[in-house]
Amino acid sequence: MNDLKLGTEDNRGYWRPNKPIRYPNVFIWPPSLFGILRWIPKYLFPWAFIYALLSVGVFFFLTPPIEAMKSMSISWIGLIFLRNVALLITIVGIQHYWLYIRKSQGTVFKYNRKWPQDRNSSFTFNNQTKDNIFWSLVSGVPIWTMWESIAWWLYANGHIAQLTIGANPMWFVLLWFLVPLLHELHFYCVHRLIHVPWIYKHVHHIHHRNTNPGPWSGLSMHPIEHLLYFSGTLIYFIVPAHPIHFLNVGMLAGLSPAQGHTGFDRVVTGEESTFHLPYYAHYLHHRYFEVNYADGSIPLDRWFGTFHDGSDEAGEKLKQRRIKMNQKRK
Ligand SMILES: [Zn+2]
Ligand SMILES: [Zn+2]
Repeated sequence: MNDLKLGTEDNRGYWRPNKPIRYPNVFIWPPSLFGILRWIPKYLFPWAFIYALLSVGVFFFLTPPIEAMKSMSISWIGLIFLRNVALLITIVGIQHYWLYIRKSQGTVFKYNRKWPQDRNSSFTFNNQTKDNIFWSLVSGVPIWTMWESIAWWLYANGHIAQLTIGANPMWFVLLWFLVPLLHELHFYCVHRLIHVPWIYKHVHHIHHRNTNPGPWSGLSMHPIEHLLYFSGTLIYFIVPAHPIHFLNVGMLAGLSPAQGHTGFDRVVTGEESTFHLPYYAHYLHHRYFEVNYADGSIPLDRWFGTFHDGSDEAGEKLKQRRIKMNQKRK
């Protein structure tokens, strides 16, 4: 498959899609009913739906009984930890194997034609993948499990408002629909915070060493970043929620970053390319640092002047912004 029909490659080996990144016509004024109706299926399918379904499966088949979770115990927390490790290794591993070990589609639709170097001294163990796996498993999964276990313990003991499907079916569905949007909003707030220079230097730089990211880069973060990033669960301590809601946000936060960091725009399947992943925005964040802090449908970066749509004009704007910032510093 030739990706030059849908994009261009510059002389430094960076491929970019021809179409600039666009926000859906949802968070606009005056509101557009047509825009919202067109956006809902794209918002839900396939990924939000897949993660929602996964959280239902995990709730019924891969979670210890609620009675056991009334007291904190290593036995049930350990089981949740092992389940999260297994999910992460399976889902991230498949993407890494397909794109970076088997190299099934070569560099077709890869934003940076270069492969990550085998040896790279800016990473622990001199290796990007090993370093990313280390931070994901040693810090990411334990902290994800910690937030989830606190939620379960509070829920099992009735310390947080409980929601039952039978009593509040409308609120159950509405909140479930909002889970990915709330995650997006929370991620944006945390992400802006960790770009404050001091915090960036001591915390977020771990993630940003991945200038040429791969699936394992997604959850490669400093423990403090993990603590903040997975704290999205807190929302469900406050609003009345069902465990499926906080499980869903855990699945999204834990597993979906791999997709956003594959470094590829599309997955090629036979003669077709599918799953147009609107992840060019986050790739640009890894390349230029001060753009595209948000992920998804809410045009936060456009509102706050940090949006880069991939075009030359946006590149020029960023240059001017950097010149102004440097002048201010002087
Ligand atoms: Zn960042
Ligand atoms: Zn990232």
